Amino acid sequence: MQCIALVTGGMGGGLGEALCIKLAALGNRVVTTFSPSNMKAKDWLKSMRDQGYSFNAYPCDVANLNSCRECVGMIENDLGPVNVLVNNAGITRDMTFKKMTAEDWDLVIRTNLYSVFNMTKQVMDGMVERGWGRVINISSAVGQKGAYGQTNYSASKAGMHGFTKALALEVATKGVTVNTVSPGYIGTRMVKAIPQNILESKILPQIPLSRLGNPEEVAGLVAYLASDEAAFVHGANISINGGQHMF
Ligand code: NDP
Repeated sequence: MQCIALVTGGMGGGLGEALCIKLAALGNRVVTTFSPSNMKAKDWLKSMRDQGYSFNAYPCDVANLNSCRECVGMIENDLGPVNVLVNNAGITRDMTFKKMTAEDWDLVIRTNLYSVFNMTKQVMDGMVERGWGRVINISSAVGQKGAYGQTNYSASKAGMHGFTKALALEVATKGVTVNTVSPGYIGTRMVKAIPQNILESKILPQIPLSRLGNPEEVAGLVAYLASDEAAFVHGANISINGGQHMF
């Protein structure tokens, strides 16, 4: 059976894209989403096609329940049921708590955490009925440790762990696994926005491997969790951070 794997936010050029490529290479039919305001979706799909990948993509604001319902409805109508969901879409709005407005808080919590409910809600019943499914939530090392200037982001990512464990208990005997992956610093757009001097003086010294991770390294772990071989990995929060969690 060819799985339909839905990766939210696959067009950022970072983790999402690497996840799409890896899951497709393993034979999954890969679908991704893009923000309704993203005008570059066609270009991305074309560039992927030129590299030999035929992904499907649908507009979706993951922070909005109705948008997620419509998006998954279209996917299931066009292609069939979603078997693997990777909740990857996410944003940062970094600033100290003193400067953070309610809007900065709300936007990050809605995009990073409500999205996990919004998307998982659309696929879980079907996975349980069919007796097979994989939900993989892309959290962050920051959800485990906290980070300066990231109260909103840290809270959103920590919330994913609670969601994962609670839902994992509810579906434990149904053939559906729910897990969290917590990457450390990965060399994507999100991390490249950090000034070089901060990266060198503050971030790399926290990483025993002394380098950023590659999106492909995270994609390999997610692909494993999406596979049959990972059937006994459940309710886990797997760190992938070059050893940063030891500090
Ligand atoms: P990018 O900024 O490169 O990509 C983020 C993606 O999220 C984009 O495709 C964007 O879509 C999508 N997105 C944002 N808001 C919405 C929305 N409201 N509705 C739909 N899609 C949305 O990020 P990364 O690849 O770096 O990160 C991917 C995930 O990994 C995130 O959850 C991030 O928190 C997590 N992570 C990243 C780490 C890193 O070091 N990079 C470390 C730990 C975790 P569009 O472009 O269409 O708006």
